[in-house]
This record gives sequence, structure tokens and C-alpha cells, in this order.
Amino acid sequence: MAEAKKEPRGWKDLPLSALPYKLSLEYKTGSWRAFRPVIDQSKCIKCMNCWLYCPDFAVLWDGERVSVNYEYCKGCGICAHECPVNAITMVPETKKA
Ligand code: SF4
Ligand code: SF4
Repeated sequence: MAEAKKEPRGWKDLPLSALPYKLSLEYKTGSWRAFRPVIDQSKCIKCMNCWLYCPDFAVLWDGERVSVNYEYCKGCGICAHECPVNAITMVPETKKA
């Protein structure tokens, strides 16, 4: 007689394959993107709101300007929503920058 299937009660009951096993750096979420954020540097006041709100830590600061790491940006648009001066435009990936 077949054994009754046990429902998982917590993460320790999940099979190994259901858990991420690599560093998050290896999951390049940029491949999911339908829209990409483009920063107008002439409007940017360097407030860093985009950096603060980005859920993927994909906004970069090099000491002079803000940029986006497109390998990890998944195009959610939160940065554009939170930018106080509308310096970020979400552009369809089908269009060239
Ligand atoms: S679109 Fe989303 S993931 Fe990409 S930089 Fe903006 S907040 Fe981060
Ligand atoms: S939120 Fe807008 S103004 Fe602020 S740093 Fe980002 S792009 Fe620049």
C-alpha cells in the first residue's frame, strides 16, 4: 500500500530542489525585465531615493552619478515612482536607449 503524502509543515520539509542553492548574485534578475529605468542625469538631484527604494539593490552610486545595474534591475519601476524630480523614465526594452 502506498504511503500517504505528508504535507510540508515548514521550510525544512521542502525538498532540496525547491530552495535556492546559489548566491543571490548568481540570479541575474535583469533578464525578466520588460521596461528599463533610464536616468536623466541633467534632472537628477542625487537624493538617492531610487537607491533607497530599489528592492534589488540595482541602483549604483559612484560618488558622482547614479546609475542602474541592468544585470539585476528587473524593471519594477519603483525607482521612477519614488524619484521626486521625475528624472527616471521607464522605457520598453524593445526600444534602444
Ligand atoms: S526598476 Fe526596480 S529593480 Fe530596476 S532599478 Fe528601479 S527599483 Fe530597482
Ligand atoms: S531618485 Fe531621482 S533625483 Fe534622486 S538620485 Fe535617483 S534619479 Fe536622482
